[in-house]
Amino acid sequence: MLACPYCFEKLTDNKIVKCPHCEQFLLDPIFNLGHVPLDKKNCIFCDKKVLREARICQYCHRWLDEVERTARDIDLDDLV
Ligand SMILES: [Zn+2]
Ligand SMILES: [Zn+2]
Repeated sequence: MLACPYCFEKLTDNKIVKCPHCEQFLLDPIFNLGHVPLDKKNCIFCDKKVLREARICQYCHRWLDEVERTARDIDLDDLV
């Protein structure tokens, strides 16, 4: 099953060039995942549920891993 490498939502068409969920252009080769992760987390920005593996929020389209990277340098108390 194909999944978007950014938001990890399932993709129905493997010829797709733009993810319909997060609207990122799929310039990198699309990951062919054996399974889609089921765990979810809340987006730090819009508080909607996104897949835990997702690098980008499919709702507000912000990069989640950038925040995590930054947060590690600042203060972990704000994340809880
Ligand atoms: Zn996506
Ligand atoms: Zn969001």
